[in-house]
Amino acid sequence: MKLNKTKSRGLSVILIIAIVLVIALAAFAAYRHFSNPGQTTSISASGQTLYSCPMHPEVVSDKPGKCPKCGMILEPKNT
Ligand SMILES: [Zn+2]
Repeated sequence: MKLNKTKSRGLSVILIIAIVLVIALAAFAAYRHFSNPGQTTSISASGQTLYSCPMHPEVVSDKPGKCPKCGMILEPKNT
């Protein structure tokens, strides 16, 4: 009887740890999501951001992408 009780207590402790871990993971994911507002939000918010190639200033795009000449990722340019 005593052994059974101890065993079930250990199981519930593991269950609680598992639930706490899941909640902590969810909170961490939510924190990362909110502390790091993606590029899409800043683009739609400003609407005026232009992207240009660091090597080819003549290459300008109104959306993020790659330079057609060298393949580098276009960098946002606020002008
Ligand atoms: Zn380029």
